[in-house]
Amino acid sequence: MKTEEIRCSFCSGTGRDPFGIMSRLSKCCVCGGSGLVRVQSPCIRCAHCNGTGAVKRLTCLVCGGKGFMPAPDGPTVTCPDCMGTGDDDGAKAMACLICRGLGWVPA
Ligand SMILES: [Zn+2]
Ligand SMILES: [Zn+2]
Ligand SMILES: [Zn+2]
Repeated sequence: MKTEEIRCSFCSGTGRDPFGIMSRLSKCCVCGGSGLVRVQSPCIRCAHCNGTGAVKRLTCLVCGGKGFMPAPDGPTVTCPDCMGTGDDDGAKAMACLICRGLGWVPA
């Protein structure tokens, strides 16, 4: 499996807790303070958090805060339930149950 190192989306590469939940000086819980995260390559932007790594100030549960997901290795179609947003229709902070927050399903 190929991986690559990208800038941590959750903290924008600063290595600090972006929302200061514990403290502004505490380490980013996603990258552990390094500002970098390792993702599978090739990867695509996470639909649920729009690549930001955060949903309502919480770590995105779909990508774990990295902002990216492994790219699908086959043909896909836009999820008919969330129309590609990766969000649950009733509760936007929750991941779509059909595509598990990916925004796409295997074709
Ligand atoms: Zn980080
Ligand atoms: Zn995400
Ligand atoms: Zn969906």
